[in-house]
Amino acid sequence: MAEMVMPLEMAENETLIEQEATAIERIKQIRPLLGDDVVILGHHYQRDEVVQFADFQGDSYQLSREGAKVDAKYIVFAGVHFMAESAVVLGRDDQAVILPNMQAGCSMADMANLEQVLTAWSELEDVLMDDPENQVMPITYMNSAADLKAFVGEHGGAVCTSSNAQGVLEWSFAQRQKVFFFPDQHLGRNTGKKMGIPLEQMVLWNPFKPYGGLTDDEIRNARIILWRGHCSVHQQFRPEHIDLWKRHHPDVNVVVHPECMMEVVDKADYVGSTSYIVKMIENAPAGSKWAVGTEMHLVNRLKNQHPDKMVELLSPFSCLCSTMYRISPLDLANVLENLTEGRVINQIFVPEDVKRNAKLALDRMLTIPK
Ligand code: SF4
Repeated sequence: MAEMVMPLEMAENETLIEQEATAIERIKQIRPLLGDDVVILGHHYQRDEVVQFADFQGDSYQLSREGAKVDAKYIVFAGVHFMAESAVVLGRDDQAVILPNMQAGCSMADMANLEQVLTAWSELEDVLMDDPENQVMPITYMNSAADLKAFVGEHGGAVCTSSNAQGVLEWSFAQRQKVFFFPDQHLGRNTGKKMGIPLEQMVLWNPFKPYGGLTDDEIRNARIILWRGHCSVHQQFRPEHIDLWKRHHPDVNVVVHPECMMEVVDKADYVGSTSYIVKMIENAPAGSKWAVGTEMHLVNRLKNQHPDKMVELLSPFSCLCSTMYRISPLDLANVLENLTEGRVINQIFVPEDVKRNAKLALDRMLTIPK
């Protein structure tokens, strides 16, 4: 760490591609200097130019746990803001979590904030307070801010991921009559439907309307109250895309993420988390055909890694996570270069009380069988 390195300098007339190529060379030089002091975590949806430097590649929860297991003092999280927060919550006090670009957020996580959820909770209490047989369990998807995870932890609920959502909902219904699920309506609805909950018992809470835009009866009769949030990437896949694939390739297998809308999930052959999709393609026989409904960087990587199979994006249009894409090799080079000079920039902090309660919600999730 004490070794001197020359700062990253960009010629003014360099194109972005040339600047990124310079940054990649720079990362190759400085990464070894940082050794085990640093661990780089790369989400599946990151660009290859960034993910090539990841010590671990995976989904958000898996990566946060990997970060906490290693000795590294600095966790550089090539992902989005809520993922870095989760790494702080699950990490050790002596670890600093760094987000290479502070603009890398998640449009879905941003669709629910604490103030809106607190308002919704008090309105739900208002409608249901005379009915002790109709109590609500708050459940938040992993893709949410740390203060929402903390809210859930404080109110007896749990976090869920896209692979354990059904187990978490079953656990919730074993204790309370209703679930308040945020921020992804599609994961909540798809999971509820799989469990046999009728659509009319899953109502949509609009945070911009009083009482979510619902009547007292709609709230009282609901089994799941779904937050009106979605992933702007997975929402782009449509049932017509599946029809088109099936028409031209009757033997194609369609696999989609459960953040896709219900009409897409209903038509798909397989549905699962990013890790499920990765394993599915890895284990598929040579010559098999796959149309994949998830973020395009992961799909393109799978296509390149498995040239013996046909792997294509389900949509004819680019479906990229534009916020995740904000992390470039320039950002990664910048945070690493600062670390070589003993400076920690772009550190993510989570207040102690939020950390404690968010951890409670995450730990509770771990006690629930999938
Ligand atoms: S893919 Fe969707 S849910 Fe995932 S980080 Fe991007 S916007 Fe958020």
